Amino acid sequence: MADFRLFLFFFFLLFYLQPSRSHESCHPGCDLMVPIHFPFQMMSNPPENRCGYDGFTVTCKNETRNILTFPFSGDFVIDSISYFSQRISITDPCNCIARRLLQGFNYSDTPFRPLDTRNFTFLNCTSDAPVFQSPGGVSPIPCLSSESHSFVALPTERVGASNTSSCTEVVTFMHPSLDDSIKDSILLTWKEPDCGRCESDGGFCQYKYDTSSEVSCFTPFDHGLPKYERYTVFVIVSTGLCIVGFIIIIRRKIRSQGEESDTEISRSTNTSQLENVAGKGLDSPTIKMYPTTVVDESLQLPKPTDNICPICLLEYKANDILRTIPSCAHYFHVHCIDEWLKRNATCPLCRNYY
Ligand SMILES: [Zn+2]
Ligand SMILES: [Zn+2]
Repeated sequence: MADFRLFLFFFFLLFYLQPSRSHESCHPGCDLMVPIHFPFQMMSNPPENRCGYDGFTVTCKNETRNILTFPFSGDFVIDSISYFSQRISITDPCNCIARRLLQGFNYSDTPFRPLDTRNFTFLNCTSDAPVFQSPGGVSPIPCLSSESHSFVALPTERVGASNTSSCTEVVTFMHPSLDDSIKDSILLTWKEPDCGRCESDGGFCQYKYDTSSEVSCFTPFDHGLPKYERYTVFVIVSTGLCIVGFIIIIRRKIRSQGEESDTEISRSTNTSQLENVAGKGLDSPTIKMYPTTVVDESLQLPKPTDNICPICLLEYKANDILRTIPSCAHYFHVHCIDEWLKRNATCPLCRNYY
């Protein structure tokens, strides 16, 4: 009976490790810094590969940029994707997000929604208008301004309190952000499919069956191993399955006395293998030992170019507390990385083990 359990263990492990053909045959996108995978998919993938979810189709521009097309607002470059927090940051291909907002940003008929929205009023001012004077002055939007005119966008509730002489109100529009100024990118989120927890456990989502739209989380073990190693394990497990099957046949024939003790050892081996497969994060005392820094008012960061938390895709602000992973020096918001570290023993950015 215990032999039979061992047989079942190898059989299910074999099924568990079976490489997913559709995952392997999905194009990772044309910007290596922003890998595209489920629920996103490249337009170039054959539909039968079922690489992604409806509304998450990405195209390539100039072979270097991943483009997401909004039915009513056109093309945007994908700046970054956090599969863990289910957030996406998009920018204008012509580097003028303000112009796109002026034209009316419409996310209807897409799975994406802003984290929050705020009304902004656009003002057309002379270049020496008081609104630009310090202290408390705002900066003109470079991509819309010329020598004679400077455009500025203010949160609508602040227009009355600002000195807007020499300015003309142009339009009020919805900005998908809670910031006081217009940034270079727009941050959006999606709810379905809900794969954030799966991603944070090191797994990946995929369609469960070939014909239905049901999505399932695939194993951390399957995802974590490189392709060659996964096939090696696949071969080893297949061999184990054959050997165990052979042992069962022999044992049934000879019905030897030592059967029980041998299979107890097998069972404990199975248990420890399954525990390894499950993978673990770090305990709280270990996480707390990783160094933290507080962002000061001048926004001095350990690496000035890394000014966005790769998990929540929000810019670091003054007084934010960051935690650094010592082995790779990547840093994140404390509350973002601590959640991750509880469930993972890898850096969410470079996937290195600690
Ligand atoms: Zn964060
Ligand atoms: Zn890292």
